Amino acid sequence: MVEPPLPEQTLDLSVVIPVYNEQDVLPALFERLYPALDALGRSYEVIFVDDGSRDRSPALLREQYQRRPDVTRVIYLRANAGQHAALMAGFEYTRGKTVVTLDADLQNPPEEIGKLLEQIDAGHDYVGSIRRQRKDSWWRDKASRAMNRLREKITNIHMTDQGCMLRAYDRDIVQAMLDSHEAQTFIPALGYLYAGHPTEVVVEHEERAAGESKYPLYKLIHLNFDLMTGFSLAPLQIFSVVGFFISVVSFFFVIYLALRRLIVGPEVEGVFTLFAILFLVAGIILFGIGLLGEYVGRILVQSRGRPRYLVGCVLSKEHDDDKGCPS
Ligand code: UDP
Ligand code: MG
Repeated sequence: MVEPPLPEQTLDLSVVIPVYNEQDVLPALFERLYPALDALGRSYEVIFVDDGSRDRSPALLREQYQRRPDVTRVIYLRANAGQHAALMAGFEYTRGKTVVTLDADLQNPPEEIGKLLEQIDAGHDYVGSIRRQRKDSWWRDKASRAMNRLREKITNIHMTDQGCMLRAYDRDIVQAMLDSHEAQTFIPALGYLYAGHPTEVVVEHEERAAGESKYPLYKLIHLNFDLMTGFSLAPLQIFSVVGFFISVVSFFFVIYLALRRLIVGPEVEGVFTLFAILFLVAGIILFGIGLLGEYVGRILVQSRGRPRYLVGCVLSKEHDDDKGCPS
């Protein structure tokens, strides 16, 4: 097992970047990220978390470490753990008073980090970001806007743009996130829970510089379920209310049908209407079972208590043992 991180917070800034099969974009990222950070005039470190990549990313990260060992750390996870778990792994190794998260694909320009830090300097402990103009596919833009609105309604988390990962967190918030031990989580929302003075800034957004999105539709749906069920019980409560309403209406409907049976006698007209009502109710019941399943499944995952990730090896000046790191 790799040694635990150093406890002292000796730096102004830690930038944590999850990397999963990003060989096409990493050279461009290195080229823009380091000058942007040097220009800030603050002490910083960049922590790359290789999330079990199967391409040349691990080797590229090592090369970059060798180029800038003073300000670079690379954490290699043994297997793919997912973007948010990878961020958690990176958090464990941060030493900065402020921690900034960034995607590897240059969709969020690293030149914007200074804007976030200004807000931190102004006393905020959580700085979210809003993409000025999204450069994603049409359906993703629409779907994500809809999910954003839904989340805003059913959780207490207020983010204008939940999908933007360029965010700055105060050290204490990062610590709280680490202490929360959630099996499946959504970092921007989790951080928001602990923030006392959150704020948001508008940032530029670019198209993915190279490579392709790691989020196919089903993963996006999964992520949004994590967000809803992880931060709100409202879906369950709404469901009970709907169930209750249908029960009340059905109750009177049954009385009405029973009376007709007694007064008018047996009749089959309108049987399709009855079917329609039955199908509707059956659909709602099935949806409810599925919804329950989402919560129960997450309880199951959480109760297993499996480690969220396994760190394979660490490249850093402070850990001189790079045994097992990709070369
Ligand atoms: N990522 C990761 N593990 C995964 C999936 C993604 O570390 O299992 C990283 C990926 O390398 C990138 C970031 O998470 O740095 C966001 O992924 P992507 O840009 O594909 O998401 P999108 O912008 O399409 O939502
Ligand atoms: Mg992206």
